[in-house]
Amino acid sequence: MNMKKLFSIFGNIALVGLLTSAAGAADTAGLDPALVLALLTEKGGATSHTAIIARQLGIPCVVGVAGALELVPGVGVLVDGTTGTVDASADADDAHARVAADRAARAALDSWTGPAETTDGVRIKLLANVADGESARLSSGAPVEGVGLFRTELCFLDRRDEPTVDEQAAIYGEVLDAFTGPGRYVVVRTLDAGSDKPIAFATLEDEENPALGVRGLRLAVNNPGLLERQLDGIAAAARASGTETWVMAPMVATVAEAADFAARVRERGLKAGVMVEVPSAALLADRMLEVVDFLSIGTNDLTQYTMAADRLASDLAHLTDPWQPAVLQLIATTAVAGQQAGKSVGVCGEAAADPLLAVALVGMGVTSLSMAAAAVRPVGAQLSAVSSETCREAAAAALAAADPMAGREAVRAVVTG
Ligand code: PEP
Ligand code: MG
Repeated sequence: MNMKKLFSIFGNIALVGLLTSAAGAADTAGLDPALVLALLTEKGGATSHTAIIARQLGIPCVVGVAGALELVPGVGVLVDGTTGTVDASADADDAHARVAADRAARAALDSWTGPAETTDGVRIKLLANVADGESARLSSGAPVEGVGLFRTELCFLDRRDEPTVDEQAAIYGEVLDAFTGPGRYVVVRTLDAGSDKPIAFATLEDEENPALGVRGLRLAVNNPGLLERQLDGIAAAARASGTETWVMAPMVATVAEAADFAARVRERGLKAGVMVEVPSAALLADRMLEVVDFLSIGTNDLTQYTMAADRLASDLAHLTDPWQPAVLQLIATTAVAGQQAGKSVGVCGEAAADPLLAVALVGMGVTSLSMAAAAVRPVGAQLSAVSSETCREAAAAALAAADPMAGREAVRAVVTG
């Protein structure tokens, strides 16, 4: 992180904040939510890992704020991490009133204890996205049925050497142990190193275009044993904890990759899936489902690769928007394939945390939604207020919309009747 200033910030809202030109995933992971009440960056996209980790920590974060570093210390800044807005000229009384209203709205949702079920009784699994044992323990108190995305690479951002199988088993075990109990399960994602999550022991250096390079499952090819040792660690942790464990691979582009990965996972007695993050995987979802047990749609990368727009670029936020109809079309294709195969298709990208979009995703046939724990109640309460017919109408409206703004308005109209 190249620049820091301490500030007065009111935000979802806060009193002391941190301003920076850019923050890497490792920088953000080290922030203490008790000290840093909001984070503003000049650069970055809404689905950059900086933003994702801040959300996970419960720190209101707005990225890509032009002029953030010019803000004057001592001036109150109202930061709304939900709408992504920053107001440096907010009247102090108004700002405190909005902070209080936000707290009251959150407190009102505390009484929502799940499970998520439409008014006509269709159940949708809500799951948590976690980064390590600590976030898993915090998330286990939310009304979730388990973990839909354990980003294992985030455990190793500061590691120079690959942890041994035993060390890995202990680290993964902390997450699994937080979700023991009937009906609960954890989806562990194998290392998604590379691009904006460099891991010293796994990432290729000096790639010309790392987002399109050797990241995710592709790292296994030139790192003999890396994937096997991780799978051994996961399997050992699963045996020790007794928690139902599913394992999925990131950045899968071909059916052959999916089949090869699934065989290695099943050899260890675990349930195997792949992420749908590359458009080729969505287009071939039916064939992917012939070789795996489940799919999980990573809308952050699926959006980046469908729209050919870097998820880290603040100038491209209008394209890196999961409401883009082309992205929604690929999600719908994947969900329909899941329904036809009778297999689970979840969404674990940030799109799952948007209550309005969640309604449309369920209408497309998605069976689970995984998100930062803070988003679970707003999403669950919204889904429990609509019928499955409304979800289907919302899906049709979003898919037919000309652009993201029209999609949001059309779905809002369907949901509010
Ligand atoms: C995604 O791409 O949507 C996803 C969940 O993976 P990550 O954000 O870690 O790339
Ligand atoms: Mg991804």
